Amino acid sequence: MKSDNIDPLDPSELRRRAEKQLKASRLNADSPSSTAEFKRILQELSVHQIELEMQNEELQHSRNEILKEQRRFADLYDFAPVGYLTLALDSTILEANLTATRILSLARSQLKGVRLGGLIAQRDLPAFNSMINRALMSRVQEHSEVMIESRGSGKPGSQERTFRLDGIIRENLQEYPLTLTDVTDTKAAVEELKRREERFRSMFEGHSAIMLIINPDSGFIVEANRAATKFYGWSIEELRTMRIEEIITRTPEQIKFFLEQSWTEDNTQLLYRHRRADKSLRDVEVYNSAIVISGETLLYTVVHDITERLRHDTAAAFYISLLEVIDTMTIKQLLQMTLDKAELLTDSSIGFFHFVEDDQRTLTLQQWSTNTINLLCKTTEEKNHYSIDQAGVWADALRERKAVIHNDFASIASRKGMPEGHVTVIREVLVPIFRREKVVAILAVGNKLGNYDEDDITWLSIIADAAWEVIAKKIGEEEHIKQLSQHHLVEQLAMHDSLTGLPNRLLLSERISLTMAQCRRNKCMAALMIFDLDKFKPVNDTFGHAIGDLLLQQVAKRALDALQRDGDSIARLGGDEFVILMPQIDAISNAIALAEKIRQKIQEPFTIEGHAIDISCSIGIAIIPEHGENELTLMKHADEAMYRAKNQGRNNVTVFETL
Ligand code: GH3
Ligand code: MG
Repeated sequence: MKSDNIDPLDPSELRRRAEKQLKASRLNADSPSSTAEFKRILQELSVHQIELEMQNEELQHSRNEILKEQRRFADLYDFAPVGYLTLALDSTILEANLTATRILSLARSQLKGVRLGGLIAQRDLPAFNSMINRALMSRVQEHSEVMIESRGSGKPGSQERTFRLDGIIRENLQEYPLTLTDVTDTKAAVEELKRREERFRSMFEGHSAIMLIINPDSGFIVEANRAATKFYGWSIEELRTMRIEEIITRTPEQIKFFLEQSWTEDNTQLLYRHRRADKSLRDVEVYNSAIVISGETLLYTVVHDITERLRHDTAAAFYISLLEVIDTMTIKQLLQMTLDKAELLTDSSIGFFHFVEDDQRTLTLQQWSTNTINLLCKTTEEKNHYSIDQAGVWADALRERKAVIHNDFASIASRKGMPEGHVTVIREVLVPIFRREKVVAILAVGNKLGNYDEDDITWLSIIADAAWEVIAKKIGEEEHIKQLSQHHLVEQLAMHDSLTGLPNRLLLSERISLTMAQCRRNKCMAALMIFDLDKFKPVNDTFGHAIGDLLLQQVAKRALDALQRDGDSIARLGGDEFVILMPQIDAISNAIALAEKIRQKIQEPFTIEGHAIDISCSIGIAIIPEHGENELTLMKHADEAMYRAKNQGRNNVTVFETL
């Protein structure tokens, strides 16, 4: 055969071959059959030659095009962004593109004949071999990731980089074409992302705050952490099948607003009420922000349970509002205010308050709530005091010494509701208020639309407790006032004469001491006079003791009316004997004048129960300090003066005279 080095389309070569063929053919110029024939052949040959030349030109053009294409393909092959290797089935490198030589930092000549397995890190060899075996078996594209030590490339030291190998072994082909992609950076980025996601997951999982991840489009809970499962009482699997609207106690519109608002405003803080698996409700503060997880933008929700805080804030505010009105309101009004608040917080429509006495057996109804008062259709005189034995089931709060719920009141056989004619109890909740281990009161509300639960008990307990602090203070104050007035009454009784209401000897004695001290201090004069009715006994004897009493009252009144100066006072010593004290006089004549006035007033006739009674009195005067340094002496001297007046014929005024 022809040498491979000869180009069959080369024009000189073509000429040579053509001449050779011409020689061998019958058509020889030396033996033309005729001139005409020769000319015809020459003509044909010339045409043929032109045809051939044209053909040749065409071929030359095609060849150039093919060469250009080849170069383009070679460039594509060499400069492709991935490395190309062609391996023999024993992994010997047959071909490598430029990118592969650059990736592997080895020249093409260095690569050819080298086994790729020898370049791969020892630990990744099993994966590489397995890929070849799989490729041989499956005849479809297989891949593996291997570590190859990359030498040189201008960088100091060698560097291990990860490559993804993809290849397919075609049927009947003993070659394995592979692509080689450097995935070191992508892999590092993916691993970093994975690490971050793991860090986030472990923080999310283990965090003590309640956290949810929600799909804002569907409202589905995508993730929930351990704190959330504990708080809501649903397992993570259950939560993942739930929508947020199954937790929020809001209308669909409000929930839509929640999702939209949360979506647009970062870190929004919202107040909601969340429902839990056990149906209990909790007030929560919700913080929302958008978070991207695996390319999806989700709602990252942190839930903060503020139920207790809210309750105590409410109770504290209520306590303050009660304190503000403690001075202007009665106990009953304070109780009514408490019941109204308790109703509001538990969605109730009736409420009543009982006090429990120290014996822990007697209950006293103190107050209804405003609603209950408005609902009363009969104003019957209700029984306010109950013994625990007569009281209905509502007293269970006292019997059991704990809060009680009656959600189906009608089904309770031993029930006793409101008094006849009052509102019907459908359901009720009662909480006892304890002080020093004794139940001091019971607060009750009723007729909520739904059932009462522990939540209502908690609300009522803290409100009742706060209210009791104020109410007990008010009770204490009123008790104190009562005690004070009782004390005052006792004191009044002890110091006054029961028949005339005038000060008695005790009070007189105090006043005399005071007057004497004043006289000593101010070096002034005072007068003490005793007057005794003349012949009073016969009045008693004639008209009877009762008339005698009435006369004594009238005498007291007349004598009292005769007093002129502030500070002058009159006391009854007992029997028909009275004392007048003038704490300040300018002269003895002042005392004589008043004594005379009294004497004259007394001698005017009295009319008592139709009886005209005439009586007179005898008055004895002692001057302070002249006639005595102490009460006893003064009294004695005034008495002596008075007896002198009696002895002088009665109806007389006499001043004590020192002998
Ligand atoms: P004299 O002029 O000497 O004072 O004679 P008298 O009758 O007034 O007798 P005296 O003052 O010694 O006695 C007072 C009497 O008053 C004695 C008693 O019978 C009477 N008496 C005392 N206390 C009461 C009382 O509370 N009510 C009534 N009705 N009489 C009383
Ligand atoms: Mg008398």
